[in-house]
Amino acid sequence: MGEYRASSAPRRISSEERERILRDPGFGDNFTDYMAHQRWTETEGWGEGEVLPYGTLSLEPAAAVFHYAQEIFEGLKAFRHADGSVWTFRPEKNAVRIQNSARRLALPEISTEDFLASLRAVVSADEPWVPTGGETSLYLRPFMFASENFLGVRAAHTVDYYVIASPAGNYFPRGVQPLVVWVSPLAARAGRGGTGFAKCGGNYASSLQGKYEAAKAGADEVMFLDSETHSNIDELSGMNIFVVYADGRIVTPTLTGSILPGVTRESILTLAADRGLRPSEDSVNYEALTADIAAGRVTEMFACGTAAVINPIGELRDEKATWTIGNGGSGEVTMALREELTGIQYGRVEDRHGWLT
Ligand code: PMP
Repeated sequence: MGEYRASSAPRRISSEERERILRDPGFGDNFTDYMAHQRWTETEGWGEGEVLPYGTLSLEPAAAVFHYAQEIFEGLKAFRHADGSVWTFRPEKNAVRIQNSARRLALPEISTEDFLASLRAVVSADEPWVPTGGETSLYLRPFMFASENFLGVRAAHTVDYYVIASPAGNYFPRGVQPLVVWVSPLAARAGRGGTGFAKCGGNYASSLQGKYEAAKAGADEVMFLDSETHSNIDELSGMNIFVVYADGRIVTPTLTGSILPGVTRESILTLAADRGLRPSEDSVNYEALTADIAAGRVTEMFACGTAAVINPIGELRDEKATWTIGNGGSGEVTMALREELTGIQYGRVEDRHGWLT
């Protein structure tokens, strides 16, 4: 395994249309010419990897994924450097995470070798789709789901794995602007013993009501508190959180099992230590946090993840009050970390940790 059979199918989209899309890629709206595919069956295990033209999947209504949501996914980016070469950022971390997600959702584990080969296959086939310039990239979306036609409740015996790709610009339509974050009073994203640490579709379905509440409150994003005590901050619907204190501490909530272990989060812990800051993983009590913001002890907060990289949080909003963080703008520590991380990703800063593939 580890080799994907290439497709000889013609490109789906003309080069003129592709160039038009790449000038302003947005996020998640356009898809490339090809996709990678591999099928697993209970009897045969994983089959051959293949590259296919991007296109419609044909599934029967009885496919188990439609009923019991046995589905997982990943998200990472390919970046074009100034010399034209194309690089992914720590893809082996995504391989381990999809393996952890697979175990939790009773899906078959894909080997790191096959996972990396599937990414390589799509990036090679779709190389003209990797945008150039600015903060653009090719977003890669591997996913795996129960495709067996069966309505009994058990792990599926047929599973399909695909990788699709989508050219990406800014995740937030407004660009890198401080976010207004709504703190969800009731809804939790994931419970103890649940699937919070896994990247499964169900976690995102359960976050949507919170996102809707946020939009109604005029906020950009929703922050979830822990489901058990509803007193500690967990994460946003699709990003981890950091809090920067005036005394130099920079804290992200501990991975309790209900938080997704972000690759960006882990990289920031390393980069912050490199800069002589004092990064740590700890529980962050929401009441203490708002008191610290009000007293000026918290100077910055930011959200982080593959899609949005690092984005300042300017304001927290809950049912009772609004809390402006620092001066409500883009903090110095936040933007310095952002500059360094994107510098490594785009080849402007030395990759001293060997994070690029
Ligand atoms: N939390 C959630 C719920 C997410 O969906 C993501 C995006 N994958 C993250 C955090 C950040 O993870 P990463 O840095 O690996 O993109």
